[in-house]
Amino acid sequence: MIPLGTMSAMQLLSIRGATVCQNTVSSIESCTQRLYEQILLTNNLGVDSNISAVFVSMTRDLDACFAARGLRKYDVPMFSSVEPNIKGALKRCIRLLVQVNCEYTKVAQHIYLGGAKTLRPDKAKFVVAMDGPAGSGKSTLAKIIAQRLGVVHLDTGALYRAAAIKLIKTGVYKEGLTLDLDRLSQVLANTTIKMDYDALISRVYLDGIDISQDIREPNISRIASIVASNPFLRQYLNKIQSQVASQQSCVIDGRDIGTVIAPNADFKFFVKASEQERAKRRYNDLVRKGQSIDLDSVMVDMKERDYNDSTREVAPLYQASDAILVDTTDRTVVQSVSYIMRHIFGKNG
Ligand code: C5P
Repeated sequence: MIPLGTMSAMQLLSIRGATVCQNTVSSIESCTQRLYEQILLTNNLGVDSNISAVFVSMTRDLDACFAARGLRKYDVPMFSSVEPNIKGALKRCIRLLVQVNCEYTKVAQHIYLGGAKTLRPDKAKFVVAMDGPAGSGKSTLAKIIAQRLGVVHLDTGALYRAAAIKLIKTGVYKEGLTLDLDRLSQVLANTTIKMDYDALISRVYLDGIDISQDIREPNISRIASIVASNPFLRQYLNKIQSQVASQQSCVIDGRDIGTVIAPNADFKFFVKASEQERAKRRYNDLVRKGQSIDLDSVMVDMKERDYNDSTREVAPLYQASDAILVDTTDRTVVQSVSYIMRHIFGKNG
């Protein structure tokens, strides 16, 4: 007989997990096995742990084989079912519920892999990195993707723009001159840049003042791209970005997100468009905001920024080798969003 004291120290712990896969026997089996093994590993459970049952569900679009086949070698009682077929729900998804008898104090670590991470951004932290040149559409896409996934959007260009304003105001930035490093570090030590990422329209505050409109001025775009080559400034702004990325699930857009800020991002995209298309978008944007400007000077500014951003020594703009290319030249925003979402949802764990 088990002594009462021992029994009361036990619990039946339920651990959830999900992954996505292809509709083939090998993909279903291997993804299910990987998910199960990750659940055991993360929760410090061995194959000899007292696992009482594993519930396995599959979405209706997976019909090549039973996902439970991937777990046969573990010799645990399993029960398979079909997930309700809800419109817009994650496709080709396998979910596990592992029930284990273990000590009362153990807390479940739920596991979401690959595209299934988006099911519970609160439980499985993920980062979507989106890089690309000015006017490629990355910020617009990043904002929509973040809304779709229900996570924070960080527009890192806004940080560089805010820093540019501070450096102009304090006289640290002087046209044609390199930044004085001593003055730069003094000024940055007395600077706070905050972003309200959760707002529908994100706002940027420099030393407590809302500068969300000011940062969009063409001159600020130009100066931001000049000061952004300074390694000390980048280091300062990198800290703000890394902090956001380490605390919560988010979509971050910029120039060096997939290469420097979040090289291990779960999903990486490089957004590009032709020069003509990018200049036209930028021009229309500025005209809509009531600025009087001509297309040629927008093109000249843009080329100068492209040159600065892609040739600087520290963190130049380039496509990470594992980033998916999204060419938005001939795609509408809706088409680009669904292309990106398909990649995110379809990524195997
Ligand atoms: O993206 P956005 O046009 O707002 O960025 C303004 C400038 O900030 C860019 O031209 C680039 O020089 C700089 N930047 C950067 N690294 C980032 C984001 C922006 O160097 N991650």
